[in-house]
Amino acid sequence: NLSMDKLTPVQLAELDRKHFLHPTTNPKAHAENGPKAMFSEGKGIYVSEMEGVPYIDGVSMLWNVNIGHGNQEIAEVAKEQMSKLAYSSSFNGFSNEPAVRLAEKLATLAPGNLNSVFFTSGGSESNDTAFKLARFYWELNRKPLKRKIIALGNSYHGVTIAAQTATSIPNFHSFTNSKIKEVFHAKPHLTECERGDKNHPDYEGCIRDIVEKEGADTIAAVIMEPVQGAGGVHIPPEGYMAAVRKLCDDFNILLIADEVITGFGRTGTMFGSENWEAIPDLLCFAKGVTSGYAQLGGVMLSQNVRDTIVEYEEVLSHGFTYSGHATSCAVALKNIEIIERENLVANAKNMEVKLKAGLEYLSEKHKIVTKPRAIGLLSAIDLYQDPANNVPFEEGVMAAAKVWEACFERKLIARPIRFAKGMNTIALAPPLIINNQQIEDVVGILDDAISEFS
Ligand code: PLP
Repeated sequence: NLSMDKLTPVQLAELDRKHFLHPTTNPKAHAENGPKAMFSEGKGIYVSEMEGVPYIDGVSMLWNVNIGHGNQEIAEVAKEQMSKLAYSSSFNGFSNEPAVRLAEKLATLAPGNLNSVFFTSGGSESNDTAFKLARFYWELNRKPLKRKIIALGNSYHGVTIAAQTATSIPNFHSFTNSKIKEVFHAKPHLTECERGDKNHPDYEGCIRDIVEKEGADTIAAVIMEPVQGAGGVHIPPEGYMAAVRKLCDDFNILLIADEVITGFGRTGTMFGSENWEAIPDLLCFAKGVTSGYAQLGGVMLSQNVRDTIVEYEEVLSHGFTYSGHATSCAVALKNIEIIERENLVANAKNMEVKLKAGLEYLSEKHKIVTKPRAIGLLSAIDLYQDPANNVPFEEGVMAAAKVWEACFERKLIARPIRFAKGMNTIALAPPLIINNQQIEDVVGILDDAISEFS
C-alpha cells in the first residue's frame, strides 16, 4: 500500500522488477536486476533520473522526441483539450475539431497529393493499416489477387503481426513465428537492379526480380523506409527511391513509405521521401507527429487511393478506438506548430553538417570506427576490428554494446544495433532542437567511450 508520492527509487525498482514486463528487454535479466534507469524528468535534450545527473538523450528516446523533452506549451494544450473533451470516437462518422484540423494540416504538409489521413495510435498499426488499405484498393479496382507485400532487407516496420512479418530484423521477424502470408523480402538499395539491369550480379532477389517471379498481378504494394532506422541507419543511394517509385508505376503496384522515423523533420526535410523526389501512394507516420507527448499515428492516402475508397458504399470495417484521439491530435497540432515556428527542420539539416563532421573525426581518430553517416539528425557509425580489411569484431566481443554502456556511464544515451553476425552499429538521433555545443558534447562523450573500449 505504498502511495505514489512516498516511493523511493529503490522501492520503485523493486515494483518494476515484479510487475512490469518490459518491451524489447531481456525478461530474465530484468526480473533479476530491475530497471536500467528510471527517468522522472526531461528538459530539452536531457532526461534525468530522480535526483540524478542528466543524460543527453542522444536518440530522442525511440527516435521520436523531435522537439525535445519538457515542453510546457504542449503540456498546456493537452490540459486544455483534456479539460474540454479528452476523447471522442471517430467511428460511425463522429468527429472532433483537433482531428479535423490535424487532418487538414497534414494534407498541406505532406508531399504531392497525399491529401487525406486514416488515424491510428502508432507506427505498427499504421503499417498494418497501409497493407489493408492497399489490398482494399485493389479489391475495389477488381484486382483481388493483388495481395502480396514486398518489404526490404534490414527493414523495421513494427511488431503487430503484419508489420512484424514485413520487418526483416531476424529476432523481430521470427518472434513466436507469428507471421502473415504473402510477404516477400527484397535485397535493399540496389538502384541499378530496380532500374532493370538484369546483368547486375545482385539482381536475383531485388524488388524487380520478385515482381517478375511472383507476377505483378499478385502484388499489392512495396513498403520501404526512406532511410532505414532500426535496421542500422542505412541511407539509400541517390536515385534509389525514385527507381522504386518508377518500378511501382510501371508494374501497377502501390508504394508505401514508412515515415515513422523519417517524418516531421528527422532527416532535415519535413518528410523523408522529400529527399528522394519520390511520392508514395500511402505514407505511414507516428513518433515525431507528437514528439512522443501523446500516442498517435496515421496513414496518408494519395488522392487516387482516396477517390477509389470513397466510392465504397458499405462500412469500412477497420479502425482503432483511438483513431482521431482529440487530445493526441491537439498535441500533434501544437507539436507541428513548434517544429515550424522554431525552424526545427532547417536546424536538423544544419546540424547534420556538424554531427557528420564529428562522426568523421571519430572515424579518422579511431581505427575501429567506420562508415560515419548522417542525414539530418539520423546518424550512425559502425565498429569493425579492422575496417580497412573489412574484418568485423568476433561474436563475443560485443563492441556496440560495450561502447553504448561506456556512453551511458558518461551520461549519453546512444543506441547500439546488432542483429547480424559482425554487425556493431552505434546510432545517434538527438532531438531536433540540439545546438552546436551540444553536438560537440555528444561527440566528445562518444570519443571517450570508444577510447575506453579500444
Ligand atoms: N516503422 C518504423 C520505421 C519504426 O522505426 C517503428 C518503431 O520504431 C515502427 C514502424 C513501429 O512503430 P510503433 O512502435 O509506434 O508501433
